[in-house]
Amino acid sequence: LETAGEIKRISMLQQETITDHLIGIYNRRYLDKKIDEELPRASRYGMPLSMLLLDIDHFKAVNDTYGHQAGDQTLKSLGDLLFKKVRDTDILARYGGEEIAILALQTPLSVAGALAERLRQEVEQSVMVPADEGEKRPAVSITVSIGVAGFDRGVTDHHVLVERADKALYKAKRDGRNRVVINDGTL
Ligand code: GH3
Ligand code: MG
Ligand code: MG
Repeated sequence: LETAGEIKRISMLQQETITDHLIGIYNRRYLDKKIDEELPRASRYGMPLSMLLLDIDHFKAVNDTYGHQAGDQTLKSLGDLLFKKVRDTDILARYGGEEIAILALQTPLSVAGALAERLRQEVEQSVMVPADEGEKRPAVSITVSIGVAGFDRGVTDHHVLVERADKALYKAKRDGRNRVVINDGTL
């Protein structure tokens, strides 16, 4: 038996407009809407709120080496892995081509940073696509870089939060990839 909440969630997911059909998670439109809803709530009630922005490292090389189909499979597997690891209240969304965002409600920056590090390690240790039969194509593994930002008084709107996460992600890439960078507003 499904709870009313679950039924509601499923029927919402079925709405074309808020779903990414390759990965089977929310799309950017939905995430943007949620951020716009949750930021004022965080501000009004003094509740913490964080955003993780995750980007696959050297994903172009995965496509070039193993083919676009293996690339698509990799994205799906990554989505499945993340879905299993986040909380029910976290909003998981495809933010761009190979960028995934997690909006962590009621979660302070320090906790979000720890979550990001756990996810980074999980991805590093997982096989995204098993080797095909005969092992013409070996198993596909990836690493990810993650930028993390949190709501505070300096976050005056949506764009500030996303820009902070984006700057942290950029730094993670620049510092060598396969790492988490937390932006407390000083980046
Ligand atoms: P970096 O570590 O700097 O992130 O390197 P990168 O190669 O991951 O980054 P870049 O932005 O150069 O390339 C992103 C690649 O992601 C290019 C694009 O073909 C691939 N990509 C984006 N969306 C999809 C998709 O839906 N399916 C597949 N297979 N590939 C995708
Ligand atoms: Mg990338
Ligand atoms: Mg990218």
